[in-house]
Amino acid sequence: MHPETRQALAERWAALPEHVRTPAQALGRHAVGCEGTHGVFPKCNLTCTPCYHSADANKVRVDGGHTVAEVTRQMAYLRERRGPYAHAQLIGGEVSLLSPDDHAAALQAMRDAGRSPMSMTHGDFDPEYLRALVTGPGGALRFDRVSFAAHVDSLMRGRRGAVRPRTEAELNPFRERFVQMFRDLRAETGLRYYLAHNMTVTPANLGQVAETVRAVVGMGYSMMSFQPAAHVGDERRWKESYTAVDADAVWAELERGLGQRVAHEGVEFGDPRCNRVAFGFLLDGRWHAFVDPDAPAETAARDAFFAHYGGIAFSGTPPLLLVAKVLRAARRHPGDVRIAVRWARSLLRRTGGPGAVVRGARAGRLGLMTFEVHSFMDAEHVAPAWDLMQRGIEADDPRLRATQERLAACTYSMAHPETGQLVPACAQHSVLDPAENVELRRLLPLTVV
Ligand code: SF4
Repeated sequence: MHPETRQALAERWAALPEHVRTPAQALGRHAVGCEGTHGVFPKCNLTCTPCYHSADANKVRVDGGHTVAEVTRQMAYLRERRGPYAHAQLIGGEVSLLSPDDHAAALQAMRDAGRSPMSMTHGDFDPEYLRALVTGPGGALRFDRVSFAAHVDSLMRGRRGAVRPRTEAELNPFRERFVQMFRDLRAETGLRYYLAHNMTVTPANLGQVAETVRAVVGMGYSMMSFQPAAHVGDERRWKESYTAVDADAVWAELERGLGQRVAHEGVEFGDPRCNRVAFGFLLDGRWHAFVDPDAPAETAARDAFFAHYGGIAFSGTPPLLLVAKVLRAARRHPGDVRIAVRWARSLLRRTGGPGAVVRGARAGRLGLMTFEVHSFMDAEHVAPAWDLMQRGIEADDPRLRATQERLAACTYSMAHPETGQLVPACAQHSVLDPAENVELRRLLPLTVV
């Protein structure tokens, strides 16, 4: 384990509220949490209802020089505070409004700081943009692997070819087209990629989640993430009350769509009121969790993993080095081999045996799939709760106390090197974004005079 990772994880764990320090908790044991950029390109060319960005965001010019400088500054601070490796989202308004070269430079700045970047997009760009992003002069790949999250849902307006979609089903060809761009480029250049599908859920489209899951799950995405809408950001874009849709309601629709239980209790990530994550894989169209919370052999393996291998960066370490690290850790804990064998046996029993896995892999019907619900909080609660936290005051009001607990266990942070703070995205959008965008409007006006 890198000593800085060890320290960052220990600090994270020590700062977590007691109620989230469960055996299933990955934060502070395996992950320091996700990171995101802010104020680097606030503008977007689609309109969503709701939109988490402040009313001034679209009055800020997209400026590649500003983006790269600011991303570099924020990532350097995250590197300093949270160690040499983390997942980070290149997020703002719409990332594809950056030129391909500026987008590539921003990704490179993130990688240089040890971050594994993911570009957050509405997905409405052409294959030529993607090609120009991932290849340099002469056509050689400038990245071996890229990650994108495509936000596609019927609450968005202005997508080319689906300006005002009435149903989620209308958007399925666009979801497929997005994956196809990457497939084509992989065939042409060998590019590796990881794709996530994001969907905001409100009372207006909750009833279509199940059919969207059925349509999207086999398309080629490796993650399906749902965000029940919150009252945060631009008030003019709040079209209805969003309180009726919560994580339970979305999860029930997800399970209805798949026709099976999706067990998420095996691994927690932060506060369960914020995040519900199910890590697993699809085999022949059926989803399987890596950790079945009801199988003692599997939860024992999870516990051993967190205790002995948790600080190893599995997706950020070169394969040979990773094998060496795991073997070295295993030598110190010889009992882990038996635990791993028991876990594998239990998992294979659930999935139909090794033969079924091998046949599925050969037929191309085996792939990673993570399901996630991330529930942002309403600005009316975050603002006072955050204000009290800044003054070291624990809220008396139960609602604000709950908000503070969630903010303290936040898994999604944004860097403020100027104040020495790591800010939860909820506080960023609810409290800091409006003033930040007013400032950016002055710095980067739409019309340069
Ligand atoms: S950004 Fe908000 S909802 Fe997400 S983990 Fe942090 S506090 Fe929870």
